[in-house]
Amino acid sequence: MAVHDWADRLAARTQARRSAGLWRHRHIGQPTSALCDFAGNDYLGLARDPRLAEAMAEGARRHGAGARASHLVNGHLAVHEALEGRLADLTGRPRALLFSTGYMANLGVLQALCDEETRVFQDRLNHASLIDGARLAGARSRRFHHADLADLDRLLERSATGALRLVVSDGVFSMDGDIADIPGLATTARRHGAWLMIDDAHGLGVLGERGDGSVGHTHGMDEVPVLVGTLGKALGTAGAFVAGSEALVEHLVQFARPYIYTTAQPPGVAAATLAALEILASEPQRRTRLHALIARFRREAATLGLPLMASSTPIQPVVLGDDATVMAWAAHLAERGIQVGAIREPTVPRGQARLRITLSAAHTDDDLNALLEGLADCWARHTVTGGEMLT
Ligand SMILES: *Cc1c(COP(=O)(O)O)cnc(C)c1O
Repeated sequence: MAVHDWADRLAARTQARRSAGLWRHRHIGQPTSALCDFAGNDYLGLARDPRLAEAMAEGARRHGAGARASHLVNGHLAVHEALEGRLADLTGRPRALLFSTGYMANLGVLQALCDEETRVFQDRLNHASLIDGARLAGARSRRFHHADLADLDRLLERSATGALRLVVSDGVFSMDGDIADIPGLATTARRHGAWLMIDDAHGLGVLGERGDGSVGHTHGMDEVPVLVGTLGKALGTAGAFVAGSEALVEHLVQFARPYIYTTAQPPGVAAATLAALEILASEPQRRTRLHALIARFRREAATLGLPLMASSTPIQPVVLGDDATVMAWAAHLAERGIQVGAIREPTVPRGQARLRITLSAAHTDDDLNALLEGLADCWARHTVTGGEMLT
């Protein structure tokens, strides 16, 4: 179809996506719905905690619904400053810098650190925002095979020795649920004089002795100089931060355009995140409960014969391979009142379509029973095609 104008272009692209069976729909989420949520990222069950809602309301009453300006004008409030201090403490870094979203934090870091001369090395399964950040910087990204240190080492070896190099990885991979080998990445990066940046969006709050994530206090700044965490997942609110040295954070304040040219986070959100961090510290039983649910899910799903992946995190994908199968399973589960993620390309590679099941400390034993019964029913009804994970 020849494209003559904008309407043609939109129609052509829409048609291509529809005929590939990849059209995406938004469903209107119902916060207190009857649907049992196994699709979200609220791993500790904090998003609906009334203490966070109260802190948010109180923060808005005290400081206003909006921050009124960017951080460098006069939107940087005491509540933001306090939150940055707490996030630095949580991750064992001297400083942390708040961003309005994780997407923007990754754009900001990569754009501020890199340029056309910089070489960026990314795990093939890294989050889209990391790929886009390198693009915004005009930096060349090379992708290494997922979790393959030898491949990373080979790419680093072959790259120009004169250029500054940055190795970038998710801490916990958002669609597979596996945890990056942080010490391995750090050693490989250091061998080539490269810095390591970890995006711990799905590890923060969930992993580590105090919920400090896959990096946190376990891996210091010599191993991971650039740490990104997001607040919209386990912490139940919104926003993100970059933690690291004084020099790194000051550099971001000066040069990260997605930090500079945007309105500061609403103060109520920062206040709610402070409340979430308090609960993270005072209620470790949430993490214990979450990990018990993960263990039980894996045990019983394996007994059913479901094709699980090697994940010990709340992200438990069931790779079915085929788009139609994934959509059919998700629809069948939804009829039973169970919501799971149905993930297709381009979010995951073709042929690896999957249910993305996520567990939360807020789930009851009955919720998990309902999920397992629904999955057993799907498994009995459907013939799985193209599922490479089926052995
Ligand atoms: C969700 C996510 C982001 C984006 O965070 P937002 O705050 O939702 O913009 C970045 N990186 C990873 C790995 C994520 O999973």
